[in-house]
Amino acid sequence: MAMLNSNFNRLNRVYIFPLIEEKLAHFKGDLPLVNLGIGDIALPLSSRIARAICTGVEEMSTSKGIHGYGPAAGYSFLQEAICKEEFAPLGISPDEIFISDGANSDTVNILDLFDGKSTVALMNPTYPAYLDASILRGHTQLLALPCLEENGFSPDLPQGKVSLIYLCSPNNPTGMALSREELQSWVDYALKHKAILLIDNAYEAFITSKEVARSIFELPGALECAIEFRSFSKSAGFTGLRCAYTILPRTVNVEGTSLHTLWMKRQAIKFNGVAYPIQRGAAAVYSPEGRKETQAQIQIYQEGAKLLKGALAQKGLTCYGGVDSPYLWVKTPTGMSSWDFFDHLLERCQILSIPGCGFGEHGEGFVRLSSFTTPETNTLAITRLNGL
Ligand code: PLP
Repeated sequence: MAMLNSNFNRLNRVYIFPLIEEKLAHFKGDLPLVNLGIGDIALPLSSRIARAICTGVEEMSTSKGIHGYGPAAGYSFLQEAICKEEFAPLGISPDEIFISDGANSDTVNILDLFDGKSTVALMNPTYPAYLDASILRGHTQLLALPCLEENGFSPDLPQGKVSLIYLCSPNNPTGMALSREELQSWVDYALKHKAILLIDNAYEAFITSKEVARSIFELPGALECAIEFRSFSKSAGFTGLRCAYTILPRTVNVEGTSLHTLWMKRQAIKFNGVAYPIQRGAAAVYSPEGRKETQAQIQIYQEGAKLLKGALAQKGLTCYGGVDSPYLWVKTPTGMSSWDFFDHLLERCQILSIPGCGFGEHGEGFVRLSSFTTPETNTLAITRLNGL
């Protein structure tokens, strides 16, 4: 008799997207909606990347360019390009970089390496997939790390011992990044307690603050206790193409076994690699033209965040993030819940936001606004805020 994974019954968080859709279905505004809720790219793919993908496909149509199944860890041309540009100075080698189809997949699949009895600590609010995946894997020892206005959205270290720690920095949804010093305290904690840091750095391209490290591997000790997840999704417009990478140094050991060996095995068993043309496109991100085009896009999103943040401040709203991240974390006016302010923005300004409580209970009292918009949409949103 087949039996279901009963952990599905433990997924008890409120899924906000169906609720938002229901509200939108009943909403009768006279103006078209300005969507600042979206966490997806708004600008077209860089032409240099598009060309590289097309060339990869054309190559495959020739007898000399046949590419069937690729290496599960990714083609060496991409591992080497990433390493040379970003990680070689930090002591990482190309074979410690695993190419995948998304940071979403990697951040949740990594749980395959650990015992289900491991205690998992997770920021709250944060990207919800980590919690859901931990529950589905049968983890019951789950510890929330509150990211609050009072602690500057940088959670305190746990009192006791935890085994696995998810850190999302810059964090989605708060838009706040841990400083070098704060991150170092997590590395020190992990080394002391033999814990593993799972750091989701999907928004690394948006980091501008000097006190924020671009990679955890800039910090002493991280090579022994951290796994970093990166993605081309937001840095180069790959959300619809799917390509990301995980940096797992050979020196990260648990019970005397290198996690690198286990992850290699896990990927070989469960993953058949990312399409060759997509990896060619990702490698083009590191070409001078690709870099220029993708950085120009990031700058548009960053400028949008800055303008939007200024406009919100003018309306007397308290707003965090938007400096090292495309997300703004807007405090609801006194007496309003996340949903109340969501409704308020929708009715008064025809602006779509995301209620903060959808990212964890400690997100209550905030909404997330995104600067993944075109400059025109951003300007329109700022004009609409006059309705507040
Ligand atoms: N991690 C964070 C923090 C995200 O916000 C997102 C997407 O919004 C992802 C991972 C997913 O990234 P990918 O498209 O590489 O799967």
